[in-house]
Amino acid sequence: MAKRDYYEVLEVPKNATQEEIKKSYRKQALRFHPDKNPGDKSAEDKFKEAAAAYEVLSDAQKRQKYDQFGHAAFENGGAGGFGGGMTMEDIFSQFGDIFGGFGGFGGFGGFGGSSRGGGVTKGSNLRVKVSLNLKEVANGVEKKIKVKKYNPCSACDGSGAKEGTAKDTCSTCRGSGQVTRVTNTFLGQMQTASVCPTCHGEGTTISQKCESCYGEGIVKSDEVIKINIPAGVAEGMQVKMSGKGNAARRGGMNGDLLVIIHEESHPELSRDGSDLVYNLYLSIPQAALGSTVEIPTVEGKAKIKIESGTQPGKILRLRGKGLPEVNGYGRGDLLVQINVWIPKSLDKEERKMFEKMEQSDTFIPQPDKSEHGFFNRMKNFFE
Ligand SMILES: [Zn+2]
Ligand SMILES: [Zn+2]
Repeated sequence: MAKRDYYEVLEVPKNATQEEIKKSYRKQALRFHPDKNPGDKSAEDKFKEAAAAYEVLSDAQKRQKYDQFGHAAFENGGAGGFGGGMTMEDIFSQFGDIFGGFGGFGGFGGFGGSSRGGGVTKGSNLRVKVSLNLKEVANGVEKKIKVKKYNPCSACDGSGAKEGTAKDTCSTCRGSGQVTRVTNTFLGQMQTASVCPTCHGEGTTISQKCESCYGEGIVKSDEVIKINIPAGVAEGMQVKMSGKGNAARRGGMNGDLLVIIHEESHPELSRDGSDLVYNLYLSIPQAALGSTVEIPTVEGKAKIKIESGTQPGKILRLRGKGLPEVNGYGRGDLLVQINVWIPKSLDKEERKMFEKMEQSDTFIPQPDKSEHGFFNRMKNFFE
């Protein structure tokens, strides 16, 4: 079969930019996608042809060679792979990300997330958001969440090979997962090692695919995952659970599960790092006479004693009643900020009461200088 010009295949001009090439390939790939043209052999050929063209034109070096030598540039290396040697599987695993955002295509798009490096495949990471209330933040918690993720296919044990058949050693790289290419350039012979284009570094190929997973070795299913969240986490923190993400194709490494913390706000307690802050309002008599009042804590209500003559603006520090540090060392405090509630309207009797107080010297403000840090510091400064 005579090979068509790659620019012609992708319907782009010779000086097309990478963006135009990618866009055009995407259009062609979607048009001739096997899911859209089931059983149509000519569509499949066009799909492969477009992938072969894209493989060359999307790579600056290969494109340069192609521009210079045409198809001949890739025919004498013997390494195979380029220009029609790609299987459907190769195309999906290599260019799968081009289908990103088109989830409707038989799930293949989802494989775009797996990354390849040095022949080891790794599944993509999963992200989940978990909401915690303050008590859960304070104590740490075990949460069970249902996630939809890729798991190894049970029919083939994740191998991708049909039951009863074995994987074959890749004939292109003889199982090493790498190919060494010797190319003649104007600068002399150059030897480059790269990931085997046939098996993509796996070292094996599959002749008969598992029917449950179409040879991918993974299937999407629901899984309930137990997540242990340590005490002291805060809004936006990420807890990583290694290996709990998506399974990789055909027995690679699992991706990670990234748990993103969302902290539900507490109706009464606000958070300042590992300290908690509560705004306590006392009545005038409570502040003047002293009292026992109830305050909220992480663990529920607690009672504290207010001494007579307590001034608004004072902060009571309840040591160790805050949140634990996320590193496990120490615990914050609960800061009770004292406010005094002044009535906004008074009846006749009450008005008389206050007028009487006003006559008394006791009610003339006499701020205690020692309670004012600013004056304290100034005094020290001038002595
Ligand atoms: Zn399978
Ligand atoms: Zn190989």
